[in-house]
Amino acid sequence: MTPVSNSSVRVAVRVRPMSSQESDSYQDRKEVIDFIPNEPQIVVGQKQSFTFDHVYPPATEQVKVYETCVIPLVYNFLEGYNATVLAYGQTGAGKSFSMGIGLDSFVQKSNEGIVPRFIDTLFDQLAQKHGPNSTNYHISVSFLELHNEDLIDLLSPGVQTLRKENQPMVVIREDCNGAICWSGIREERVTTPHQLLCLLEKGSVARTTAATDMNISSSRSHAIFSIQLRQTPDGQQGKTITSKFHFVDLAGSERLKRTNAVGHRAKEGISINSGLLALGNVISALGDESRRSSHIPYRDSKLTRLLQDSLGGNSQTLMLACVSPAWSNLKETLNTLKYANRARNIRNRVAINQD
Ligand code: ADP
Ligand code: MG
Repeated sequence: MTPVSNSSVRVAVRVRPMSSQESDSYQDRKEVIDFIPNEPQIVVGQKQSFTFDHVYPPATEQVKVYETCVIPLVYNFLEGYNATVLAYGQTGAGKSFSMGIGLDSFVQKSNEGIVPRFIDTLFDQLAQKHGPNSTNYHISVSFLELHNEDLIDLLSPGVQTLRKENQPMVVIREDCNGAICWSGIREERVTTPHQLLCLLEKGSVARTTAATDMNISSSRSHAIFSIQLRQTPDGQQGKTITSKFHFVDLAGSERLKRTNAVGHRAKEGISINSGLLALGNVISALGDESRRSSHIPYRDSKLTRLLQDSLGGNSQTLMLACVSPAWSNLKETLNTLKYANRARNIRNRVAINQD
C-alpha cells in the first residue's frame, strides 16, 4: 500500500424543489429553509444555521451536483483510491433522483443522476488513460439491496422470486490488507458504458419489483451499487491497482410512527431504523475525538459492516443529505441536517491499493 493520508468525510446538502402537493398546501407553501448567497450555509426555521462542504438550493441542476462534489472522487478512484457516495434523508427528499438509482432518472439526459454521469466519465477517462479497447483495465459491478438484515442480490437472474430462504449466502470479511470485501454476490464484468447502464436499470427495476412482490416499500431498504476497477499501470506489467466505488441509496430516515405501523410493517420500520441507528452510532463514535481510538460498533448491523471502509477506513466519502423545503417536513429536515453535521467530523485514512 502507498502512504496513507487523512481525508475528511465531505457533506453536501441538497434541498429539492417543492412538490406540487406542497405548493398547493397553504402551510407548506411557506419555505422553511434560507440560503446565504455564495456560502455553503443553510438556515432552518430562521434560527438554526448549519455549514456544510456544499449546499445546493432547489434550482440546482443535476450536472452541477455531479461536477462540484462527485467528480473529484471519480478522478481519485481512477488513480486507485476507494470512494463512496452515500445518499441520506427522509423518503421523498430526492435521494434516488440525485443518485440516479431510480426509475425516473433514466428519462431525460439533463435529469440524469450521479451514477449514469459517473458511468460516462469512467469509460471516457479510462479510454484516454489506457487507449481505446485496452486490456489494461477490468471493470465489474455488483448491486445489492439490504432489507432488514437480509441481503438481496439485485443482479441475480431470479431476483424477483427471491425469498428469504433462497437468498445468497453472503460472507462479509476483511482481506489481508484489512479491507472489507464480500463474497456470494454476483460480480458482473462489463466492457461498455451501455452494459453498465443496463445493469443499473435491471437492478433498479428488480428493487421495485422485489419490493412489490414481498409487500414492502422499496424506500425502506438500502441499495448499494458497487464498481470494482482493476488496472495495470502502463509499462508496469505484473502490478495491479484496484479501487472500489460504492454508491449507496439509504432507506428513508423518517421515524415510523408506531401507531401507524402494525404487524409486518412495524417490524420492517423498526428494523430499518435500527440499520440507520447503527450507522448513526458509528458516525457518532468516529466523529468524537475522545472515542475515536475506542471500539467502533461496525458489527452491530450488516449496513455498518458493509460500509466499514467508507466510514473511518480507506475511502474518500461524500454524504449527500437530501431534504424537503416544506414546513410539514421541518422535523425530519432538522434530523437529517444534524445527522449530516456529525458525519463531517469523521476522518478517513486513504491510500492507493497497489499490489
Ligand atoms: P427518495 O429517493 O429520497 O425517496 P426521490 O428521489 O424518489 O426521493 O424523489 C421524490 C420525488 O421528487 C421524485 O418524483 C423526484 O423526481 C422528485 N425530485 C427529487 N429531487 C428533485 C430535484 N432536485 N428536482 C426535481 N425533482 C426532484
Ligand atoms: Mg428512493
